[in-house]
Amino acid sequence: MKVSNDLPTTTVIMTYCEEAWSTLLRSVHSVINRSPPELLEEIILIDDFSERDYLKQPVDEYMSKFPKVKVIHLKERHGLVRARMVGAAMATAQVLTFLDSHIECTVGWLEPLLQRVKDERTNVACSVIDEIDSINFAYTRVDANLIGSFSWSFAFQWAVMPEHERERRKAPSWPIRSPTMAGGIFAIDRAFFYEIGAYDPGFKIWGADNIDLSFRIWMCGGQLEFLPCSRVGHIFRNGHPFTFPESNIKQTFHHNTLRTVEVWVDEPYKQVFFDHVPEMKGVDPGDLTERRAIRENLECKDFQWYLDNVHPDHSKPDFKFKAKGSLRSRRYPHLCLTNMAKGRIALLDCADVQRNQVFFYTMRETIETDGFCITNNDDQLALGSCHTNPASTFKHVKGNQIKEISSGKCLGIEDETTDVLFEQCQSNSGNQRWMWENYFDENGEKEL
Ligand code: UDP
Ligand code: MN
Repeated sequence: MKVSNDLPTTTVIMTYCEEAWSTLLRSVHSVINRSPPELLEEIILIDDFSERDYLKQPVDEYMSKFPKVKVIHLKERHGLVRARMVGAAMATAQVLTFLDSHIECTVGWLEPLLQRVKDERTNVACSVIDEIDSINFAYTRVDANLIGSFSWSFAFQWAVMPEHERERRKAPSWPIRSPTMAGGIFAIDRAFFYEIGAYDPGFKIWGADNIDLSFRIWMCGGQLEFLPCSRVGHIFRNGHPFTFPESNIKQTFHHNTLRTVEVWVDEPYKQVFFDHVPEMKGVDPGDLTERRAIRENLECKDFQWYLDNVHPDHSKPDFKFKAKGSLRSRRYPHLCLTNMAKGRIALLDCADVQRNQVFFYTMRETIETDGFCITNNDDQLALGSCHTNPASTFKHVKGNQIKEISSGKCLGIEDETTDVLFEQCQSNSGNQRWMWENYFDENGEKEL
């Protein structure tokens, strides 16, 4: 690709909290070594009140050798959103580039991002995110064939690039338009960032900031895209090294998502969020006056416009169900079917607030949780796509068996382990009886 010789310059903003020394240095050095010096104005490192000693003075001393690097130690925990805003407020370059603190920029990573922002000041440019293994730190290049999407609990998800986007792009180097971004690696014009409301200071510690910003970018006149020629590796780690001081990760994430939903999502989709995350119904999201004013003042498009024009390939959510909510064993009434993530399902205590225990028995007779369908995989429960292959369907009447149609087997419980599995149906087995939290009539309307 050719790029202009008068690209705008950028300020790189990298916040960190309890980051490892080696990964922090790898991140900073990759920016210094692999950005054309004339395009890199400065790197602002924000220490978000880390507790680890080596992240204090040792970082200052080390970085003092690199004149472009400025280090700020926050005096209290800000969380990722407010920490980034401290960096943005100090930045002097025209373009802000936000990076996670455990990444590696590759040669040529920066130019395509700045080119797109120069082409159009409302373009928000993301690198394609390669994978750095969290165990051995090996760098793996990924195929650039995904877009960012979201589930109907409004959590970020990757999705296959839709047909219309494949056809629009005339070469592999072309930007990939994406409904949402992953959040950790992107460049944005500084003035445009503030125009569309920067970040929401009401967001806590971590989570949903990427969905919030993605909706605002598209609905308020911008474009969001991945640049296949710009590659940045990111360590996808299990869990987080930092604490969630006020509550746990799930509550924090849902609090932030609630703010996004309350401001940027309209009915009937708002209701879909509460179907998936019923514990947030009636919860106070905090003051939203200023966030709503952004949407109004900029005359941003509505959520239906966003779905129709930016994400027409998104599966429509269900508005009616045969049953929904927690799915309780009648033999062990304190145990609920639980989505353990990564395709695993188990029976756990019904009040486990860390986990997802919301399942939908749809009008199509599939059983779904957060965008995935339960299937019978050799009598083991598995979570599969609801769209690619015809999903498993089930017969169930209130309080009774859940029978998978194609295998004729019933969802049961092994007494010793309380493992869930598919087994021969037995009409007198209490282990095969299940009770959903809510049941609806044949039109999916009135609660039974
Ligand atoms: N971060 C921060 N303050 C916080 C939480 C996170 O500065 O309270 C930083 C973190 O160090 C990282 C970035 O925000 O550089 C994104 O967080 P993380 O990488 O844990 O999110 P993930 O990539 O897992 O979504
Ligand atoms: Mn990260």
